[in-house]
Amino acid sequence: MSARRSRKAPFKACTKCKALVPHEVTKCPICGNESFTENWSGVIIVLDPENSKIAKSLGIKKKGKYAIRLGA
Ligand SMILES: [Zn+2]
Repeated sequence: MSARRSRKAPFKACTKCKALVPHEVTKCPICGNESFTENWSGVIIVLDPENSKIAKSLGIKKKGKYAIRLGA
């Protein structure tokens, strides 16, 4: 952690399942995809995908942190 100000988001989003992972991660822990994007917006934290309507509507099956929208 540096004191330098950065407008960069602390996470990048998997282009396949939209999972948010730290920048140093090279492979998505949720779906195994290796493609990520910095252009995402909105965060949803899914704790109980079985019972979450939002998770269902976004197609999220595993608990974790996801971007709601991809693309700038
Ligand atoms: Zn993924």
